Amino acid sequence: MNAEQQGQNFLASVNRYFDKAAAATDHPEGLLQQIKICNSVYSFQFPIQHDDGYRVIKGWRAEHSHHKLPVKGGIRYSEEASEPEVIALATLMTYKCAIVDVPFGGAKGAVKINPKDFSREQLERITRRYTTELIKKNFIGPAVDVPAPDYGTGAREMAWIADTYMAFHGEQIDALGCVTGKSLAQGGIRGRTEATGLGTFYGLREACSIEEDMKEIGLETGIEGKTVVVQGLGNVGYHAAKFCTEGGAILVGVAEFEGAIQKTDGIDLEKLMAHRKETGSIMGFAGATNLANREAGLELECDILIPAALENQITKENAPRIKAKIIGEAANGPITANAEEILEKKGILIIPDVYINAGGVTVSYFEWLKNLSHVRFGRMGKRFEQGAYDRILNIVERHTERSLSKEERQLVARGADEADLVYSGLEETMSVAYNQIREIQKTNDKVDNLRTAAFVNAINKVALCYFELGIFP
Ligand code: NAD
Repeated sequence: MNAEQQGQNFLASVNRYFDKAAAATDHPEGLLQQIKICNSVYSFQFPIQHDDGYRVIKGWRAEHSHHKLPVKGGIRYSEEASEPEVIALATLMTYKCAIVDVPFGGAKGAVKINPKDFSREQLERITRRYTTELIKKNFIGPAVDVPAPDYGTGAREMAWIADTYMAFHGEQIDALGCVTGKSLAQGGIRGRTEATGLGTFYGLREACSIEEDMKEIGLETGIEGKTVVVQGLGNVGYHAAKFCTEGGAILVGVAEFEGAIQKTDGIDLEKLMAHRKETGSIMGFAGATNLANREAGLELECDILIPAALENQITKENAPRIKAKIIGEAANGPITANAEEILEKKGILIIPDVYINAGGVTVSYFEWLKNLSHVRFGRMGKRFEQGAYDRILNIVERHTERSLSKEERQLVARGADEADLVYSGLEETMSVAYNQIREIQKTNDKVDNLRTAAFVNAINKVALCYFELGIFP
């Protein structure tokens, strides 16, 4: 199957999820069509200077929904990129933003290259030229369309994008908000790196806190003591594993590109990372068993499975062998539609990607707010808060005739800094969104699972927005 066909299939499955959820709403057909279709796609080609002369590069930017502006979504550098894939990813961004109340429409961009085939200088030229094409067509700007990193891009590319945008629009006071995922030095925000993994943890913790749901799958409430398996120890998987184990879960298995390991009494994550750095592999980790192949990692006995690598990892072929009780889809699309049916028949609770990996876009939204306000979160209030708590503690000490230790005082008398506020905002976001989705699942007879509930939630929010806006002219 070529990249274009894969993209078509991906888009078809996103739209299938939409149609299923749409049927559980009572919005008029025309409005549902307007929510479903992609508003604009800019498809373009541009030349860059390569070692052997000119090279023509293919690029896209899809803006799925203009019901809220700016639109938002990453830019990927991938040889497998195709127009339908970009549209599918932009579509998911619309729903993801709506689910976590990030006031943006969805977008996505791609450049059809393998970044490994290009030098740093060539990548910079590609990124700057791609940005220029977006500027020419008004497909980028803090008020219209705000890209972010995705597969094959990172803070370095985001800095080039910001710099190119500012070269053309330096007079715009909010120009830095034209892109997120920047480094701290370039106006990025604390907490962005770990945001998706942390959001995954908050989402799982919320799901595990509900007694009724845990009873249904034969588990106690709470993350503490739950056994976890993670597939993919990259940015998302590592941080999800880190926060889950810090929350008291036991990491009993890890699957990576090179294979999978199991250790039923718990893997020390930092030691495993050090072992991988030293040996180039997770295999042969002290006290752990090497499994026959990397796919076997997914099939381990555990309470929570976190696929955090790639799409299409659980298919109708391996789904019957999955033993987890909960699956948190940290990656985008790790479970195929056919596999989902099998897993649900087995009673597995699937927490869908459109919700559980939305921590990244949530904190990107906070970065955009920081750029528009031109001040670091916490800078104005931190000392004031600390002083207020200090004064309260002084009164408590006077009334109790007891002096607090330095540690006790520090525990209470501190103001929130940027990281505290980002974590707090993300926790609130993930908690509220989970309960909204769950409520829909419990109260709408036509909704059979959390994925459909998440889509219904997104459709309802976008529909309300369009309905109240009306149609111009
Ligand atoms: P990453 O490249 O940092 O990590 C991916 C990891 O998966 C790597 O360590 C890689 O070696 C491993 N891997 C690759 N193939 C594998 C296989 N067959 N079996 C086991 N492991 C394998 O990427 P990431 O940023 O952590 O993203 C992971 C997933 O999460 C992707 O689906 C991405 O779209 C999704 N996601 C990421 C973010 C984010 O903020 N980074 C946000 C939302 C969704």
